[in-house]
Amino acid sequence: MSGIGHLAPAFAAKPVTPKVPLWVLLIAGETNDILYFLFSSAGIEPKAVITGMDFTQGVKYLTPVSNPWSHGVFMSVIWAITAAAIAFLFYRDRRTSGVIGLVVFSHWILDFLMHSNLPLLFDGSPQVGLGLENSGGGFLFMTVFDLFLLTAGIVIYFMARKQTTQKKEVENV
Ligand SMILES: [Zn+2]
Repeated sequence: MSGIGHLAPAFAAKPVTPKVPLWVLLIAGETNDILYFLFSSAGIEPKAVITGMDFTQGVKYLTPVSNPWSHGVFMSVIWAITAAAIAFLFYRDRRTSGVIGLVVFSHWILDFLMHSNLPLLFDGSPQVGLGLENSGGGFLFMTVFDLFLLTAGIVIYFMARKQTTQKKEVENV
């Protein structure tokens, strides 16, 4: 339910998890939104209907919705731990599985800035979030911030790649 900034942690994490393909990290960063898509398609969570999106009003929704299963604080922690556990089964490496768990949870942190309706537990529990999307200026900030994050992530990724190829070249000499 938000921007391209979610892809940034995947790029930034790739250099410290060399065994993990980039696409796995990109999916990890979008876990909450993939779950939202699945849960809302299955009718477990309500679908958010966006009626307007601009830099004067921010993002406007038809009705307020809450998505505790895909975006609640409690469940997001559970999804991150689950992803880390699955990663551990594959890679047998604590650092790799820890980083994958963090990439999964990074989604929630960015959504915390963007939205204001992230339930702590389930339906009826208090909702948190800075809600920058709710004002034109905030939404503009988040859009610029998303672009900045993605650029930074990609720069980190390519700088690390360049370093490893240089290292390999030195080793091969
Ligand atoms: Zn989201």
